[in-house]
Amino acid sequence: MEQAVKGRILSTTNNLSKVLCADGSVLICGIKGKRIKSLEGHYNALAAGDRVVVRPTEGGRGLVVELEPRRNSFGRYNEKGRADQAIAANIDRVICVSSPSLPPFRPRFVDRLAVMSESASVPFAIVLNKIDLGIAPETESRLADYEALGYQVLRTSVRTGEGLESLASLIRKGSSVLAGQSGVGKSSLLNALFPGLEQRTQAVSEKYERGKHTTTLAEAVLANDETMVIDTPGIRRLALRNIEPSSLSGLFPEFALYAQDCPFGGNCSHVNEEGCGVRAAAEEGQIHADRYESYLRIYEELFAPPAWKKAGSRDPGRRQRALLPGRKKLGKVRDPFDLDEEY
Ligand code: GDP
Ligand code: ZN
Repeated sequence: MEQAVKGRILSTTNNLSKVLCADGSVLICGIKGKRIKSLEGHYNALAAGDRVVVRPTEGGRGLVVELEPRRNSFGRYNEKGRADQAIAANIDRVICVSSPSLPPFRPRFVDRLAVMSESASVPFAIVLNKIDLGIAPETESRLADYEALGYQVLRTSVRTGEGLESLASLIRKGSSVLAGQSGVGKSSLLNALFPGLEQRTQAVSEKYERGKHTTTLAEAVLANDETMVIDTPGIRRLALRNIEPSSLSGLFPEFALYAQDCPFGGNCSHVNEEGCGVRAAAEEGQIHADRYESYLRIYEELFAPPAWKKAGSRDPGRRQRALLPGRKKLGKVRDPFDLDEEY
């Protein structure tokens, strides 16, 4: 039997993972015994960026025999599998790629990713690509707000080359997760930064997946000792369910100052309590009204799982929601988790 070696997960599909081994080889691996104890109850056991020990078998294949403890993990709730799902592990930053138009800038999507990064305790950055198309004053003002919150904002254009060097130096060290709605230019950016990437990725997929077109949730498009870049082509939905509602306000960094004024201290939901400092700050403009609206929507979602509703079974959020009187009904929201929906 071959010697076990250390490796890093590049991507995972259907319980088969692509693993970059210490010697530079890439193996397609299943999991020994089909499950990893520490990840029981999770949807999709392994995530891009996981550090593992594999035992090579034959023909470019192997078995994951051990998962090293994760430094952190970035994830969402999988509606279909009804479980937490890690998208990437051991990461150093999350980068939201957006555009000023085509498609339009969507702060609510930015907020959702920011919350996920805060929840994983990793730095969050926003890339506004396609700046050659011009930036509307409202978008500039939102970006200034995000900068004031401590989030790094980079402006790039694949067309003119502007900002590409700054982005390259941001992702040079450590592991970065890139997420964005389709059409913002994420693939164009990756190809501009790493010429030949598209072809390489395709070649690897064809070799190991025999031309089968499976979209992986997340895949490392670049991995070496210094840099790991994880693209998320398969993320179309960003359900947040794995957050304790009472800790959600802590994931909006600007709320803390005003939450001190709330009458119930840490027990304030900031939704409809009399004298809530956060809501007052939103009404007076110290907190951006739209950020507060993002908070309300996510908060409501944490209590309102549509998957349960659709399945027609018991809705565990029913009673808690009844405690939220006075919250105006949201407008028509077709699918609040879908990244490509207008929300
Ligand atoms: P993805 O879905 O985020 O991977 O987006 P793509 O990389 O496929 O790009 C979507 C479209 O936007 C393509 O037609 C690109 O040529 C275009 N695009 C990408 N970057 C820029 C840019 O900086 N400026 C402009 N004007 N168009 C861009
Ligand atoms: Zn409050």
